[in-house]
Amino acid sequence: MAEIKQSSKLHNVLYDIRGPILEAAHQLEAEGHKILKLNIGNPAPFGFEAPDAILVDMIRHLPHAQGYSDSRGIFSARTAVSQYYQTRGIQNIGVDDIYLGNGVSELITMSLMALLEQGDEILVPTPDYPLWTASVSLAGGRAVHYTCLEEADWEPDLEDLEAKITPRTKGIVVINPNNPTGAVYSDTTLRRIVALAERHGLIIFADEIYEKILYDGVTHTNMASFTNEDVLCLTFSGLSKAYRVCGYRAGWMAISGPKKAAADYLEGINLLANMRLCANVPAQHAIQTALGGYQSINDLILPGGRLLEQRNKAYEMLNAIPGVSTTQAKGALYLFPRLDPEVYRIRDDEKFVLDLLRDQKILLSHGRAFNWLAPDHFRMVTLPAVADIEEALGRMADFLSRYAGN
Ligand code: PLP
Repeated sequence: MAEIKQSSKLHNVLYDIRGPILEAAHQLEAEGHKILKLNIGNPAPFGFEAPDAILVDMIRHLPHAQGYSDSRGIFSARTAVSQYYQTRGIQNIGVDDIYLGNGVSELITMSLMALLEQGDEILVPTPDYPLWTASVSLAGGRAVHYTCLEEADWEPDLEDLEAKITPRTKGIVVINPNNPTGAVYSDTTLRRIVALAERHGLIIFADEIYEKILYDGVTHTNMASFTNEDVLCLTFSGLSKAYRVCGYRAGWMAISGPKKAAADYLEGINLLANMRLCANVPAQHAIQTALGGYQSINDLILPGGRLLEQRNKAYEMLNAIPGVSTTQAKGALYLFPRLDPEVYRIRDDEKFVLDLLRDQKILLSHGRAFNWLAPDHFRMVTLPAVADIEEALGRMADFLSRYAGN
């Protein structure tokens, strides 16, 4: 048979968090090695449990959740999401402005597929959560990366952002709290980005899936609460992280701003929502309970909470390794440390991560997987228990003390 090839549509599409390194880790596991996985923001394997109310709700609704739902999602869940955003200061948002999806992931892809013409540009941060860059490319667009500044707690470089706006630019992606850096942007920054969007007629894609995972008293403002009727804002969030049920695939997208002017685009989104029929129905039933119930995430992020203690331990131990430095995460589940190029001569950060994996059986993600250009960063998740973080970072320090580079 002749060779069967993948579509050229995929030639610029990269999602290296689950790429060759994960395959190498699976191979080592198949050989009987135990791998300490610090690479994926999936709370369940680290002993985090979903709130009981979510489990009970899903189980109770299983008998009534056998059919397809409305393609935008069940009414009670969409009402709960729209009410939640009303209380958070987002104006003019109703039940019909909410779309439920199989995780935020599906909605990210849908929102870009419905919008972009070949060569249209979307401003995406670097470093980014790479699904954004991949989805822009898949939709035929071009992700143009604006820099976030490590020396400014990873806040976006607004001059760089504005300089990269061209006549082809359609929108700006803002990931806040940020994966991979843990940054939570100041209100001033958010307002400035909104002003830029207004001046240049751009759509804002606000990925706020970590909005409830905040440390040290930091607060988070939904970007759409700063926009007015002149800026179309698509806000993304869901149950995967704060409610610790990534596997249930429950996310949502809320549309605010000039919906009349965007009617044709929204029709396109409706078409794509109809084509995929609906999101996982049992999980949709948990959304109302999640948003309205006891917010158990607070027990994990406030003083004495597991997520906070793990973040602190990882920060302290990473910064104690010679040639490694990291800013502290204000939110989310990650640190994005720097490897000083004067100390470690790393030309290929993917190879560095593979070398660490093979030598120490510790799995990280390399910085370039997050569209960071230089081979001088990696991402680690702060989900493992303190004892596992101590073990992993102790072994990493030992490995680095012997690592000559590549
Ligand atoms: N957005 C960001 C910033 C993420 O980190 C993730 C998952 O890690 C997602 C979206 C996807 O989330 P979901 O499980 O809702 O598809």
